[in-house]
Amino acid sequence: MNRYDFDLFVIGGGSGGVRASRIAAGYGAKVAVAEEYRLGGTCVIRGCVPKKLLMYASQFGFALEDSKGFGWQVSEASHKWESLIRAKDVEIARLEQVYEGLLGKAGVEVIKGKATIVGAHEVRVNDVSFTAAHILVATGATPEVPEIPGAELMVTSNDVLAMEHAAETVAIVGGGYIACEFAGIFKGLGSKLWMVHRGSSLLRGFDEQVREHIGNELAASGIEMRLASTVAAVERKRNAYLVYLGSGEILEVDLVMAATGRRPNTASLGLERVGIHVDARGAIPVDSYSRTSSDHIYAVGDVTNRINLTPVAIHEGHAFADSVFGAKSRGTDHEGVPFAVFSQPQVAAVGLTEAEACTRHGGVRVYSSVFRPMRATLSGRNERVLVKLIADDTTDRILGAHIVAPDAAEIIQGIAVALKAGATKADFDATLGVHPSVAEEFVTLRNATYSTGLQS
Ligand code: NDP
Repeated sequence: MNRYDFDLFVIGGGSGGVRASRIAAGYGAKVAVAEEYRLGGTCVIRGCVPKKLLMYASQFGFALEDSKGFGWQVSEASHKWESLIRAKDVEIARLEQVYEGLLGKAGVEVIKGKATIVGAHEVRVNDVSFTAAHILVATGATPEVPEIPGAELMVTSNDVLAMEHAAETVAIVGGGYIACEFAGIFKGLGSKLWMVHRGSSLLRGFDEQVREHIGNELAASGIEMRLASTVAAVERKRNAYLVYLGSGEILEVDLVMAATGRRPNTASLGLERVGIHVDARGAIPVDSYSRTSSDHIYAVGDVTNRINLTPVAIHEGHAFADSVFGAKSRGTDHEGVPFAVFSQPQVAAVGLTEAEACTRHGGVRVYSSVFRPMRATLSGRNERVLVKLIADDTTDRILGAHIVAPDAAEIIQGIAVALKAGATKADFDATLGVHPSVAEEFVTLRNATYSTGLQS
C-alpha cells in the first residue's frame, strides 16, 4: 500500500504546473493538481494568449492607417471592444478545455480549490487533507499596484482583459513588458494614450540602445510619453479619473492602468509551516533543480521569480519531473533564453546586452543599423527598425542579438538557435539574406559600428 495519497501534489495549474504533472504522470507517478481559478494559469487565461489576441486586433488599427498609402480607400472604420472580448473569451474557454483534456488523458487528478501546505508531505484543499511524497509549488504571480492615494481606482492587465467597454483615453503607469504591450493594444484600437514611467527609458534590463529606440518609436506612434515621471495620486472625477503627476501635470482619462510589476503568489500558502522563507519580493528561493529549502518541496515558474516567461516555467517543470520521477537528473538552463515584448513595434533579444557583454567579455564589436523599413516608404509611417549584434572581439562569437521591428519575435527565434549553437560573426556573414526582408539585416551588418573595451 502507498504511504501517501499521491506521488506528486502540484499547487497551481498554469504552464509550469501542468507540464510537470503531465511529465511526472508519464513516468507512472500518481499526480494531483490543485487549481483555485481556471486551468491554464496566467499564460492562457490572463496573460500571453489573450494579450496576443488583443495585440492582433490592434494591429488592424495600425494597418488601416497604413493601407491608404498602398491605395486602399478605407471609409470610417470603427472597432467594437465588446465583440473582441467575447471572441477572446470563447477561445480562452476552448484552451482551458484543452488543458483539462490533456491532464485527464495523462491520468492527473484535478482538484478545484485553494491549496495550502500543512506539512512537508501534506496539503489541504477545501478542508480536505491530501498527503504526497513530493509537493510542487507553481502558483505564479499577480499584478502589483503602487501604494499611492487612489491606488484602488487603477486597473491591472487582469481587469483590462475582462473589461466590457473600450476606454477612449488611457494612462498606463509603468515602463516594463506589460506597459509597452498594452500601450500598443490601446493605441491600435484607437485610444488616446499616455505612458507614465518613473525611469528615463522603458524596459529596464534591456540593451540601452534598444530602450532608447523603443521609447522614440512609441512616441512617434502618437503615444504621449511621460518619462522620468511619477504618479502622486489618482482621483475619481465623475466618470473620469485624474492622474496627478509628480511634475504637477494632471491627466484626465477614462482608465488608469497600473503595469508596475507582478508579485509571486506565496501569501497564505503555508510555506512558513515547512520552514520556507520567501525573499524580499515574496519569491521562493530555489536551486537550479528547483529544490526549495524543504526536502520534497519544489517550486517552478513565476513564483520563484527567476526568468518570468512561460517557456522557462515549462522548462523548469519538465526538468523537475525528469529529475524526480524520470531518473534523468537535469537542472534548468537559463542561458540564452530569447524574449520578446509584443509592443508595436516589437522588441526582441537573445543573449547579452552591450553593457553586459562589455563587463563579462571585455573587448566587443558592436554592429548596429537603424533604418526605415520598406513598408514605411509607402505607408508614410514615421518608423525606424533597429538591428544590433554584439560580437566577442577575441572569439568572434555572437554574444547578443537585439531587434526592434514589426515581427521581431518571429525573427529572434531563429537567431536564438544560432546563438545556442555558438555562431560567430563570420557564420552570420557567411549566411545569405532573405531579400527583401527586415531579418536579412542580421546577415548584412558588414562593418562594426564601434568596438569597446579593447584598449583597457
Ligand atoms: P516589469 O517588471 O517588466 O515592469 C514593471 C514596470 O513598473 C517597470 O517599468 C518599473 O519601473 C515600474 N514600477 C514598478 N514599481 C513601480 C512603482 N511603485 N511606481 C511606478 N512604477 C513602478 O513588470 P510587468 O508587470 O510589465 O511584467 C512582469 C513580468 O512578466 C515581466 O518582467 C516578464 O518577465 C513577464 N512578462 C512577459 C511578457 C512577454 O514575454 N512578452 C509579457 C508580459 C509579462 P522600473 O523599471 O523603474 O523598476
